[in-house]
Amino acid sequence: MYDYLIYGGLVVTGSTIVRADVAVRDGRIEHIAPEIDRSSSAKHFDATGKLVLPGVIDVHSHPVYEDRIGNTSIAAAFGGVTHTIHYAYVKPGQPVIDTLKRFQDEGLADSVVDFSLHAGFFDAPNQVPLIPEMFKMGITSGKLFMTYAKLKWMSDDYWLMAAADILAKEGGLLMVHAENGLATDYLEDKYLKEGKSIMDVFLDTRPDLLEAEAINRATRIAQVAGCPIYIVHNTAALNLDVIRRIRGEGYRMYTETCPQYLCLNDEVYARFGARAKVGPPIRRETDRLALWEGLKDGSIDTIASDHAAKSKQPDDDFFQAPFGAPQVETSLTVCYDEGVNKGRIPVTRLVKVMSENPARIFGLYPHKGTVQVGSDADIVVFDPHLRHKITDETQKTKAGYTLYHDREVLGKPVFSMQRGRELLRDGEIVARPGCAKFYPTRAGQVDIDALV
Ligand SMILES: [Zn+2]
Repeated sequence: MYDYLIYGGLVVTGSTIVRADVAVRDGRIEHIAPEIDRSSSAKHFDATGKLVLPGVIDVHSHPVYEDRIGNTSIAAAFGGVTHTIHYAYVKPGQPVIDTLKRFQDEGLADSVVDFSLHAGFFDAPNQVPLIPEMFKMGITSGKLFMTYAKLKWMSDDYWLMAAADILAKEGGLLMVHAENGLATDYLEDKYLKEGKSIMDVFLDTRPDLLEAEAINRATRIAQVAGCPIYIVHNTAALNLDVIRRIRGEGYRMYTETCPQYLCLNDEVYARFGARAKVGPPIRRETDRLALWEGLKDGSIDTIASDHAAKSKQPDDDFFQAPFGAPQVETSLTVCYDEGVNKGRIPVTRLVKVMSENPARIFGLYPHKGTVQVGSDADIVVFDPHLRHKITDETQKTKAGYTLYHDREVLGKPVFSMQRGRELLRDGEIVARPGCAKFYPTRAGQVDIDALV
């Protein structure tokens, strides 16, 4: 007997689409076949006319603002996510390992979806030397900021080199927020002195050239150390020239973009004001379209949400307002609509960049990231015919808004399970906090050829 049978759907992985039933036992996928006898299973879900996908693995979230890990996981589960990798931020003065443990404990207590952690370093000189300690906890990736100098979050090239060197030795992955922080700070100061509204000149203060420059610099530093690198949240067409050149050399340079760069353009500023302030910025339509091309041709490996639920009003002072916006809940839906419904990428590629590649890059594959025999039964049923409107009121994030307010989209996750247990059913999250598992990562071990 099976525990659960999902029947009648189209099973989509990163490379295949097949009409098949999926049988689950003891938390794993036990059998996949064109027709499995319904009487062989205790529970059923009728997926006729729907897509059966591996759950989304969201590898970029910041559960330290309005949404802590618990509420982030609920918003994520509504969005078809079954695994998150959170940034465990270690602020200056905080003990590194104790802080990482606190994030882990919070996730085990409050999360409704499985999770892993990246370290986020804010004080590299005091934190980077402790990288070997975090590996003992199953945390094998760490992010440094090349920007936010004024906020004192920035790591300079000395510490980028040091982090790359130590991570290379441990067999881990360097992650960077790549923007030239000192140059962008100068530009911001200059426009402020001229009395310009930062919203009006936001893109001029954070130019694409300075993002592409930082990507090139960080990757070259990582190459010297022999450390794989992961570039979070790519926003610009110009980045793709750098990415294609360096990946053409076969280097393990992994690349991510986010729903806000794929599904929005600079029209957001007039409409959403300070709520649309994210870093790097949401750029022009030409950048947006180039990012879809990059996803299609294999230059970009992943889509991740960069969920940062900040409480902001549209007419808040744009300069003072913090960077970040809620994204995890809408990520699959808006990217499916913009990517698949508009014919920019096939659904297999969407599954590849939202589930399979994140799992491969962080060493969770094939437990996670695919629908195949032996994998964790982390499954999402997506109804591609369900037309609905995203509004502020439909959101579970405590930020209270979405940059997709009033957008009509086609397609929605309607059911999900984690390790065989129901997670999302009949429009409700039925899993309880405390059921999530922490998964250690083994980041940066896969060749880029496996991601295309
Ligand atoms: Zn981020």
